[in-house]
Amino acid sequence: MTIKNKLRAGFGFLFLLALVSCGLSIYFLNRLSADAREILKDNYKSVQYTKNMADAIDASPDVLNQDQVKQIDENLSNQEHNITERGERQLTASLRSKYETLKSSKLNSGETTKLHSEIRKLLSDIMQLNMSAVEHKYTTAINTAGSAKLLVAFTGSFLFLVAFSFVVNFPGYIANPIKELTERIKEVSNRNYHQQLNFRSNDEFGELGQAFNTMTRKLDEYENSNLASILFEKRRIETIINSMHDAILGLDEKSFVIFANEVACTLIGLPAKDLVGRYAPDISLENDLVRNLLVNDQHKMKIYADNRESFYSKEVLSVVNKEKVIGSVIILKNITEFQQLDEAKTNFIATISHELKTPISSIKMSLKLLEDNRIGQVNTEQKQLLENIDEDARRLLKITSELLDMAQVETGKLQLNFGNTHPKNIVDYAVKALKTTAEQKQIVLNINCAEDLPDVRADLDKTTWVLINLLSNAIKYSHEKAVVDLTVKKHNGDEIEFSVQDHGQGIDQRYLSRIFERYFKVPGASAEQTGTGLGLAIAKDFIEAQSGKIGVESEQGEGSRFYFTLKKI
Ligand code: ADP
Repeated sequence: MTIKNKLRAGFGFLFLLALVSCGLSIYFLNRLSADAREILKDNYKSVQYTKNMADAIDASPDVLNQDQVKQIDENLSNQEHNITERGERQLTASLRSKYETLKSSKLNSGETTKLHSEIRKLLSDIMQLNMSAVEHKYTTAINTAGSAKLLVAFTGSFLFLVAFSFVVNFPGYIANPIKELTERIKEVSNRNYHQQLNFRSNDEFGELGQAFNTMTRKLDEYENSNLASILFEKRRIETIINSMHDAILGLDEKSFVIFANEVACTLIGLPAKDLVGRYAPDISLENDLVRNLLVNDQHKMKIYADNRESFYSKEVLSVVNKEKVIGSVIILKNITEFQQLDEAKTNFIATISHELKTPISSIKMSLKLLEDNRIGQVNTEQKQLLENIDEDARRLLKITSELLDMAQVETGKLQLNFGNTHPKNIVDYAVKALKTTAEQKQIVLNINCAEDLPDVRADLDKTTWVLINLLSNAIKYSHEKAVVDLTVKKHNGDEIEFSVQDHGQGIDQRYLSRIFERYFKVPGASAEQTGTGLGLAIAKDFIEAQSGKIGVESEQGEGSRFYFTLKKI
């Protein structure tokens, strides 16, 4: 039954009880009033009639006058129509016959007196009979009232009990399932899906319970299938991470280790169970590698593990979710193989460039001799050919020197000879070296170097080499008859800045950040302009080895300004 119908039935039952109680009360009141009415109608009136007749007879003991006859006739007739008690009919009939006898005037006085007394006796009997009936009916009415009181009290109590239990139980009937449902929903919202409602009734609550149970079952199934697929994916990712040759260490946003693959465990020298879940800075207190990984921002690392020395490049990736950093992944890539190849390449370059330098120098020497008139005259065409060979030999020498310098830097064999020198010396050496080249392109070198500048602490050769490189690039990438400014000035209080400003083609912003990389050349340069792409990379190494800084500012079409700084004395 639905709740609506149950409510209807409940209230209907209460209403029925109230109706029954009212009906009973009305029934008993009716019975009482009927009893009273009967007493009044049946007996009281008979008493009244007999009294009236007795009064009429007593008024004149001898002969009945007309008034008496009328009064008796009237009352007797009424009495005859109000026969209610057993025996009353015979008594009234006797009374009628005696009265009719009395009315006939042929009677003597003795007979009349006798009749009078008989009539009185009959009247008294009828009155007595009715009085007894009144008493009997009174007793019946009292009994009826008593049982009515009992029945109404019983019905009232029963009704009260039913209404009371209804009032006590009904709110619970509605509220208890809602309360239970609310609690289960709270549990479900806490992802506790093992919730079932035991509403066994066939009403709306029963349906609600079934729907809720189905929902939680489905949620549970969904959660389990989700969990299973998440666990499967987690295992798959763990397997992938473990099968990688790079060391991978995952940290959460509070620097607790979340995972470490097998390579990472081997390198760190601790099993995963001693790493995962621990605060990384705590591990770093007892483990050098973890300390280096957390603190050191150096990219290339030499690590001794598994009885051999290996090279690793470190990369730290921030894990960002919705613009919030939720952790980081440290990747150590094994670059030992590349390192070995790189070293082999550097050694090869060093050997080759070193070996090439001697024959190139001897070519240059031979060229010098050929140009000397004492050896013999050369015609104009031969002179031109000799000049070409000289230019190529010069370029070859430059390339081999750069390669050799590069190899020295890469193998860490760069040796600096520091000394105190005035910036003007560096400028003079560089300008002297490039004077002819500048003149060939009719380029004006605008030198701005004050005499009162303090000395700098520098390797004179290397620094001059850097300045020559910057000036030679400036000349190379300037148009003919252009101006190149060479400025030396104080910078940041304790530094001297050398800058070379040209007004040539400039450098596209896209390439500015890569300009100091090894072998990088801006795409689109003409064949005669491009070199090895090593000049600026070596310059950077030379300047940084002297604790200086090197940089560039450039605007395409406007020219470039290359600068470097050195510490003043
Ligand atoms: P290269 O030997 O090729 O000149 P560098 O390392 O000296 O090598 O220069 C690298 C690249 O930077 C060059 O190929 C050139 O494209 C660009 N570059 C260097 N200086 C200038 C400059 N003053 N103006 C325009 N481009 C320049």
